Amino acid sequence: MKNDLHIQTKAIHAGNENNKIDIVQPIHVSTTFERNEDGNTGEFVYTRLNNPNRNTLEKKLAALENAAEAIAFSSGMAAINALFENILEPNSHIIIPNDCYHGTRALLNNFFTKWHISFTEVEMTDVENITKAIQQNTKLIWVETPSNPQLKITDIKAAVALAKQHKIIIACDNTFATSIHQKPLELGADYVMHSSTKFYSGHSDVLGGVLLAKENNEICKQIKLYQQIAGAVPSPFDCWLLNRSIATLPLRVAVQNESAFAIAIFLNNHPQIEKVYYPGLSTHPNHEVAAEQMKQKFGSILSILVKGKQEQAMKFANNLFLIKHATSLGGVESLIEHRRSVEGENPISPENLLRLSIGIEHVDDLIADIEEALNKI
Ligand code: PLP
Repeated sequence: MKNDLHIQTKAIHAGNENNKIDIVQPIHVSTTFERNEDGNTGEFVYTRLNNPNRNTLEKKLAALENAAEAIAFSSGMAAINALFENILEPNSHIIIPNDCYHGTRALLNNFFTKWHISFTEVEMTDVENITKAIQQNTKLIWVETPSNPQLKITDIKAAVALAKQHKIIIACDNTFATSIHQKPLELGADYVMHSSTKFYSGHSDVLGGVLLAKENNEICKQIKLYQQIAGAVPSPFDCWLLNRSIATLPLRVAVQNESAFAIAIFLNNHPQIEKVYYPGLSTHPNHEVAAEQMKQKFGSILSILVKGKQEQAMKFANNLFLIKHATSLGGVESLIEHRRSVEGENPISPENLLRLSIGIEHVDDLIADIEEALNKI
């Protein structure tokens, strides 16, 4: 596949080059494949190692972000775990954002402390804070931008420059922006992670994750081996669903972005809303950085503080009719969630914070739903 094709074209065709007869690749459910005469080799051998549907998916995902390699996993968390397992060493240190997906923090807290791996949570909206957190044993800088759920923005280029200066590996959780609007590898990051459960699936029916590597180097090869041996791989059906969904990713996110922008402005002017967190608003502290690195698009996730306390926020969420009260994001259906309720033992979100994921319903219907629900608090 030519590298200079538009992403909208790649989303449909990348990975499918070798499907000679079918326009739509069949689902290869066989867990095992006939081997060559040597009894060991073969194009495909065993589905944990590789599978035609996974192969197509990985090629497509790599093409979208011009990555050297894409390695698919059965969830976003499995992908993050694979990266951490292969970069962090016993007694080493990692820097993560203070407003980070809570699962990433939980992974480090619950499973990496036994190897004496420490982490520092940093306010990454100012990269100088990353410099201050660097230790002699820092192995990885983990960036998440926009962050979940406060939509904080980290300047990827500046963070990369700093990481390179200190010879530290840098990776970015690109779930909220997607490859359509943000390409951290092109900005110099070593690895990118996506929870493909979100925008890539786009229909809230697949759990998945992917790691993208800038170079097919030793660590990348090690992660590939880890994928095959540890075995947290996506099923052929899930890969097939993702291949199908990614074809419409550019179209879906275009509508989602536009609607989210209109909803952010509506909420920002509403007397019952205390604050809107959305990088598209010119009042967002890092709006300029977001505009630059997200190519003037700001995504379809926004968080709000409803005036009052948790009770008022919950009332609003439960008053909605079209926008469902559920976790996750990036799907065609709009969702709302009270983040503090799901953040476990040490929640970081304010009690009146709600996160919205805007889908592809007509924006007028969504705004009418929001207005009615706010009026009934
Ligand atoms: N990163 C971000 C920003 C997320 O929002 C999520 C899930 O919500 C994850 C990672 C984890 O992905 P998964 O749920 O697919 O394991």
